Amino acid sequence: MRNRIVDVIKMNPTKDIEASGWIRSFRANKFISINDGSCISSLQIVIEQDNFDKTLIDELNTGASIWVKGSLIESLGGGQKTEISANEIRIIGKADPEELQKTILQPKKHSLEKLREQGHLRMRTNLFGAVFRIRHHMSFAIHKYFNDKGFFYINTPIITGTDAEGAGETFRVTTLPLGDKNIDLKNDFFGKPTHLTVSGQLEAELAALALGKAYTFGPTFRAENSNTTRHLAEFWMVEPEIAFADINDDIDLGEDFLKYLINYALETCKEDLKFLNERAIKEEEQLPKEKRNEHSLLERMKMVSNNEFERITYTKAIEILERSKPNKKKKFKYPVEWGIDLQSEHEKFLVEKHFKKPVVIVDYPASIKAFYMRQNDDGKTVAAMDILFPGIGEIIGGSQREERHEVLQEKCKEFNIPQEAIWWYLETRKFGTVPHAGFGLGFERLMMFVTGMTNIRDVIPFPRTPNNAEF
Ligand code: ATP
Ligand code: MN
Repeated sequence: MRNRIVDVIKMNPTKDIEASGWIRSFRANKFISINDGSCISSLQIVIEQDNFDKTLIDELNTGASIWVKGSLIESLGGGQKTEISANEIRIIGKADPEELQKTILQPKKHSLEKLREQGHLRMRTNLFGAVFRIRHHMSFAIHKYFNDKGFFYINTPIITGTDAEGAGETFRVTTLPLGDKNIDLKNDFFGKPTHLTVSGQLEAELAALALGKAYTFGPTFRAENSNTTRHLAEFWMVEPEIAFADINDDIDLGEDFLKYLINYALETCKEDLKFLNERAIKEEEQLPKEKRNEHSLLERMKMVSNNEFERITYTKAIEILERSKPNKKKKFKYPVEWGIDLQSEHEKFLVEKHFKKPVVIVDYPASIKAFYMRQNDDGKTVAAMDILFPGIGEIIGGSQREERHEVLQEKCKEFNIPQEAIWWYLETRKFGTVPHAGFGLGFERLMMFVTGMTNIRDVIPFPRTPNNAEF
């Protein structure tokens, strides 16, 4: 059995060992560095040139894959504890050095844009190896957290026929011929218009109203033509839903969950985070002072996990913004007044300038939020909450759901939602309705926070954005 490098580097010197990986470098006809993706560290292989065929030596090029057998010995060099002194080497897959020069495997600094264009190879770099190992650990931690807390994992449909949610522009799902707009949708595959889901929430609610605590974690699609560094057309969303719970339980859950995930990363992904932390510091040295982060990635993660999130109402947030310096100096692009949807410049001010920590905003105007959010007694606001993070903006959006049948029916009328389209949703309010709440966490927004990557395209293996669906 092949040993993974992550295990080999922890082993004591031993005589017979095998390893394989992709060559990162070959120096002085003596030192081969291989990486197998199991960890950020590469393994040093030392060869005596005279013991190997010249043809083999010639094929030890960066990018090639090899198998090695030898003994694990203490390393004489300073870079690593041990290395393999090779007795036998086999080339598994060659790599033509000339062609390789055109790729990002060429060992030199490449821009993130260039790395994105070569999404088929970028996972072989230290940077993306680190990002995607962390992504795996974060997925696992999400399931672990909910499992430990008695939540049930529910798979909600990816193809849906409900257009009630209003969370964003949808992608149509059809088998009708391209470009034929006059065909009756009754003849389409499902006998009605269908699209890719923008959220699993409505179905997650059905599950919570039967199983008590449920969550979804799946792909989500929004045809937002916004092209920002925080939006994808296809992203992954985590949506817990809890019965017998109100908005405060929902916020408590959100805060506890985020802190758990950040601590999990700090404990489980030490090596990769150390690499990302140092990389970010070096990158920022190139930036003008005012664009640099005040705190390093690791400091930001620890600050979030060690501090209580600030909780304020939307009304209070508006007051703070109205009295703020940038508002008085007319620096905000979007004017501030009660009733507006907070823009990212406003969120940024509250989180990064005013409170300098994560902020939870509750009780938003009913008019800017979805129909299913629970009406507050003031008649103007709903029990909605957003959790805003430094450098990210909105990371979680959630609410207590309207559990009162008549109030929900009224809301449907106000929002022009035909009740027959969501008859099943309304029925749960007729038979044993209970207060319940939930939220959506954008998995890639979380990934941006725990890796320090500033473009959402760099935390999902194969990003889908306007005009981009390669790989
Ligand atoms: P935003 O205002 O940032 O566009 P939203 O209010 O439309 O987000 P929600 O409908 O509340 O988002 O979705 C819940 C969470 O899903 C958000 O808090 C965010 O973390 C994430 N999210 C929403 N849209 C996207 C997207 N296009 N790409 C990646 N993540 C997203
Ligand atoms: Mn939201």
